[in-house]
Amino acid sequence: MSLFKELGLSQAITNALTDLGYEQPTTIQEKAIPQILSSQDDVKAFAQTGTGKTAAFSLPILEQIDSKSKNTQAIILSPTRELAIQIGKNIQEFSKNLSNINVITVYGGASIEDQIRGLKKGAHIVVGTPGRTVDLIKRKQLKLENIKWVVLDEADEMLNMGFKEDLDQVLKVTPQDKQTLLFSATFPREVDAIAKNYMHNPVEIDAGKRNVGADKVSHEYYLVSERNRYPSLKRLADVNPNIYGIVFCRTRRETKDIAAKLIDDGYNADALHGDLSQAQRDIVMEKFRAKHLQLLIATDVAARGLDVTDLTHVINYKLPDQTENYTHRSGRTGRAGKEGISIALISNKEKGKLRPIERKIGKTFIQKQVPNGKEICEKQLFKLIEKVKDVEVNDEQINPYLEGIYAQLKDIDHDELIKRFVSIEFNQFLSYYEGAEDLNGDDSRERRRSSDENFTRFYINLGKMDRLNPAKLMGLINEHLNKNDVEIGQIEILKSFSFFEIDKAYADKVVDAFRNAEFDGRAVIVEVTTKPKQRRNRSKRRFGSGERRGGNGFSGHRKSSGGYGNKKGGKFSNSKPSSRRSRR
Ligand code: AMP
Repeated sequence: MSLFKELGLSQAITNALTDLGYEQPTTIQEKAIPQILSSQDDVKAFAQTGTGKTAAFSLPILEQIDSKSKNTQAIILSPTRELAIQIGKNIQEFSKNLSNINVITVYGGASIEDQIRGLKKGAHIVVGTPGRTVDLIKRKQLKLENIKWVVLDEADEMLNMGFKEDLDQVLKVTPQDKQTLLFSATFPREVDAIAKNYMHNPVEIDAGKRNVGADKVSHEYYLVSERNRYPSLKRLADVNPNIYGIVFCRTRRETKDIAAKLIDDGYNADALHGDLSQAQRDIVMEKFRAKHLQLLIATDVAARGLDVTDLTHVINYKLPDQTENYTHRSGRTGRAGKEGISIALISNKEKGKLRPIERKIGKTFIQKQVPNGKEICEKQLFKLIEKVKDVEVNDEQINPYLEGIYAQLKDIDHDELIKRFVSIEFNQFLSYYEGAEDLNGDDSRERRRSSDENFTRFYINLGKMDRLNPAKLMGLINEHLNKNDVEIGQIEILKSFSFFEIDKAYADKVVDAFRNAEFDGRAVIVEVTTKPKQRRNRSKRRFGSGERRGGNGFSGHRKSSGGYGNKKGGKFSNSKPSSRRSRR
């Protein structure tokens, strides 16, 4: 008997799971499925991405859906369109042997009319992003008065993304006696508040210490200067010729910059960020899923819901502003029992960010050295040799030419022949890395000089008391500037006020943008300010004062200079070693 069956699932569903290759339930499935099948109690589950939580909540719901009724009985809210689509798709797969179960997925950026038509046909389960779901409720096209289950998937992320009001609105129109299932990787105050306000004595379920995959993730960091951040990224890609990973950046602008540079330097890379149209995003994701891209450069939000199970690496080009986001990022590798590596490129100033992450993940970061040219060439060389060993030879097609080829090569002996053939592929690579400098270590003084020059510093009369955090502040800035690609420098959140730095070019616009602005009904004051004098006195401090200006300081503002790699980039991109060409 299948283990899924022991959890109380029917043959129709367990057969579908077998077809999907699900052999054994994951921890969260083992705990949540019998609980939801046997009790109406609300459930509060600690579950990261990749733990199998989709099946954990959807299987027991599917098992109990009344297919004879046309009412919508379950609403599943998820933070992003991609995740919603993925959940909808999963539910369809799980229910393929059940008759007459209709699942509709609703999300912004797609025709609302089509979605309304779908709802009119009767949807037993609706999966939606919060904004579009509220829109459909307001238009009276989505009726939730007969709801039996509400699922809040990735609740922390929904709140991070500013969906609190939408969640409130949805929850308010659902009946009192429904069962609420809340899944979240982290439980910050805001998530607990939702649980307190809308759930009744929830049963708590933990997906286990970590998901199966996360235990197989090793966490590594490389200490580099800002100048060497990008060249170091390239070396990491070069030393891992079979890399299939996501490079996480902090801003859309950085994402675009890094992707453009990598493409220019001949890598199979592309960018995924919110400035792309939905169609463009779909194309990029499809290419990545099909492994036509080796590196996907993405913002946290854009990469949500991208269901790729076999990433070899996650690279934090810049560490996220919020510790929780690191777990989301690293949880994307090491899935389905495979091993994965989560890498952080950090400057001296960012070292302080590692400890809180280590506490969260319960693991220690291992410091690694950016590989030197010799190590990289060796790796690439042996990759080529592997390829030669594995290549399929089509005798029939090649045989007619062999005589001529042998005749031409007859004066070259075996050893010389191998050398020459390797050199064809490698001359450019070897010369590119010849004498390559050591990229390890940070030079923070240079960084601070540049920081001061390129940014204007502002005071804002909101702080921790207003529950402001770097993410919220960035959201506020983007919202008021009505732009989302303005480079934001250091942020310091203090008790009742804060400081932030903005790309100098936008300095005038910032003051204007915040004129008459309000935050929670209070007038917002934003003024240009300068750094306090004592901060310039760096001589006594090892790493400069920026490091100590609160844990919220971060250095994501500088456009990464090409440094060494870029100077020689032309040469490199012309040569494009074969490992970087499309895998197709
Ligand atoms: P989720 O956390 O729901 O996004 O699931 C992460 C990945 O694990 C998805 O690709 C699922 O298809 C897969 N998965 C979920 N449960 C199982 C299972 N019991 N056995 C094998 N794969 C699973």
